[in-house]
Amino acid sequence: MLARILSPLRITSTLPASTTTTYTPRFLLLLPTTSAHHHTRFIHSTQPLRMSSESKIQLKGSCTCKSLQYTLSLNSTEDARTTLCHCRSCRRAFGTNYGLTAKVALDSFSYNDGTETLKKYTQENGVTREFCGECGVFICEYGTEAADKFRYVMWGSLDEPEKIPPKGEFFCKERASWMPEISGVFHKREIKE
Ligand SMILES: [Zn+2]
Ligand SMILES: [Zn+2]
Repeated sequence: MLARILSPLRITSTLPASTTTTYTPRFLLLLPTTSAHHHTRFIHSTQPLRMSSESKIQLKGSCTCKSLQYTLSLNSTEDARTTLCHCRSCRRAFGTNYGLTAKVALDSFSYNDGTETLKKYTQENGVTREFCGECGVFICEYGTEAADKFRYVMWGSLDEPEKIPPKGEFFCKERASWMPEISGVFHKREIKE
């Protein structure tokens, strides 16, 4: 592959906005691009490219009426832990035979503008659920212990939930009799931290 060492110069790349950067490197290795886009690919020879916060993976979601919209900003999809929970509390809240949420760090979860319809309800066992006051769809939940650390995001409210498939099942002892086990994930008889 053709490569040239260039003397110091200033370059403004034409990469997508998320990776656009302007800087003055000491040495630059230019590689001809093979992409269909006419971008200049470059590799700094003395230090790694600093990745901006915009390089994070962003997963978006919303309620049914779209009044509530949110974004998960993750370093990796591994930062989200999706699990099923067969406990009575989840079954009641979800109105199905199990709850399905993705656990993420609180600081990676944020609502977009316009949260006027956001409502919260804390039930007897301390679990708080945040939902849309217009359409009633749950967005996330958290227990007392997790309140200032994590959000359990309702998996089905994500635009592309398949990007973070389940890693495990909780409260399997309360699994509906007709619900098969999911293979290849962990199984706990109880425990929903
Ligand atoms: Zn809504
Ligand atoms: Zn549960």
